[in-house]
Amino acid sequence: MQLPQRTKVLVVGGGPAGSTAAGFLARDGIDVVLLERDMFPRYHVGESLLPSCLEVLELLGAREFIEAQGFVRKPGAYLHWQGEQWTLDFGELRGRYQHSFQVSRATFDALLLQHARRLGAHVAEGANVRELEFCGERPVAAQWVGRDGAKHRIAFDYLVDASGRSGLMATRYLKNRQMHEVFKHIALWGYWSDVPQPNEARDGAITVASIPDGWLWAIPLADGTMSIGAVLRKDAYVAARKRAMLKQIYRDCIAASDLISRITASGRLVSPVRSEQDYSYRSSAFAGPGYFLTGDAACFLDPLLSSGVHLAMYGATLAAACLGSTLRAEIDEAQASAFYEHNYRQAYTRFLVFVTAFYQVQSRFGYFDEARRLTHHDVAHGDVQSAFRNLVSGLEDFADAEGTATHLLGQMTRRIEENLVLRRDKAALRSPELRAQAEQSAQFFDAVEGLSMLSPQCADGDFYVCTEPRLSVRPKRARLPMTTAPQVADARYAVADAAAPRSGSR
Ligand code: FAD
Repeated sequence: MQLPQRTKVLVVGGGPAGSTAAGFLARDGIDVVLLERDMFPRYHVGESLLPSCLEVLELLGAREFIEAQGFVRKPGAYLHWQGEQWTLDFGELRGRYQHSFQVSRATFDALLLQHARRLGAHVAEGANVRELEFCGERPVAAQWVGRDGAKHRIAFDYLVDASGRSGLMATRYLKNRQMHEVFKHIALWGYWSDVPQPNEARDGAITVASIPDGWLWAIPLADGTMSIGAVLRKDAYVAARKRAMLKQIYRDCIAASDLISRITASGRLVSPVRSEQDYSYRSSAFAGPGYFLTGDAACFLDPLLSSGVHLAMYGATLAAACLGSTLRAEIDEAQASAFYEHNYRQAYTRFLVFVTAFYQVQSRFGYFDEARRLTHHDVAHGDVQSAFRNLVSGLEDFADAEGTATHLLGQMTRRIEENLVLRRDKAALRSPELRAQAEQSAQFFDAVEGLSMLSPQCADGDFYVCTEPRLSVRPKRARLPMTTAPQVADARYAVADAAAPRSGSR
């Protein structure tokens, strides 16, 4: 395909973030080019999706055909933690989507990229962006190399950097990627045949099992294989590496869990063992003059809660809304950057505190004890405070900046603990009082994962994202279009109404 030499928006990267952004923009008639280094379908880790991804797929017009692909339907999670067991069902309480999917990312990502193409984006695969050109701080053109080695240049007005962990802007130009000291974990994973799900887990659920130095996941995939991964504390990994090779460390992790060794006993490892290190980070800025960083290019969080694809698609939706409104002169660039920066960082921070609290719940058992330091070391108090302002109503301690992070972490931890206790004792959910308590927690967790910026009631600040008649950023005081108001208020995103059990819902 012949690509233009100039475009309104250049998207770098064709993962879930890039395809989502390009798809939304193209659908609204905006000229967009997406350059993807690899040829799709290409391998990618990260198979377990959250129900919130279905919300974005629906907006994008992709949900129905993704649902029809035969991916494993994910009803929730089964946790086997320190000898205790919980089943977390997405459908237990309320919620618009009470399931999600375990996907082969090669297929899922290729389908999304194809969808972006169908919506009108110019997509080139095998197109490696090597250099960006700047006018002051503003990126204005990209030099890229095709599969045949030919060099090209494309000029653009706006850049969406969706280049994933390689993070073109953050690592090469802005140099603003900051690693999370607390989540310096190592992941090792591979794919197995002839491995059944644990009897206790519902068909299609992800299994999460603790081991002394970390935890394991087991994700059933549609081709009959099981993705099995280990997340290890870095110090444990470094010590193990002195005496063993990667594959042996991986097998030792599996052997450390009774449950996972039982299900893999007659299974066969049918792939190489892959690894990823030090993998939680965020950039100090997510947007700037003429650019937006989205998905893993902006930030990444420990995969305990399966938040990666959700955050990628969420950020991309926000970026597309900001760009659409900027290009139609509905808001100015500075407003768009500020809105994006604030709302995307909030979404990330909510998950960050959620993951931290989840680890902290385990720390009673001596596990990841240091995680409680996180909010003091890694996150500015103002970020945490604002990320939760809409979630934790009635918090009396906001005036106390020193205490805010600890207080919120405590709130979150308490809710997770209560939620897990109720999950363990399903009979308790029949009691109206406890059911109300569970629904309240579920509502809280739903708001953590939800797309709150899509509701004028829930979006923080002066603007919110409107989806009809097109994706855009609107001032809160503007009148809502009739087609959108009931749907948004319809509890999809409203904190007051939404309720789906998501605690620990990897
Ligand atoms: P990517 O999917 O990585 O896409 C980026 C694309 O950009 C790539 O296709 C790449 O080829 C392309 N690219 C990069 N540089 C260039 C360039 N210079 N020019 C052109 N193209 C370029 N998430 C979940 O939701 N559930 C999980 O269960 C889960 N488990 C995980 C387990 C592990 C061990 C890890 C490390 C991650 C996990 N994740 C999980 C996270 C998830 O994989 C990512 O968050 C998600 O893929 C982010 O999507 P993205 O579009 O931002 O980036």
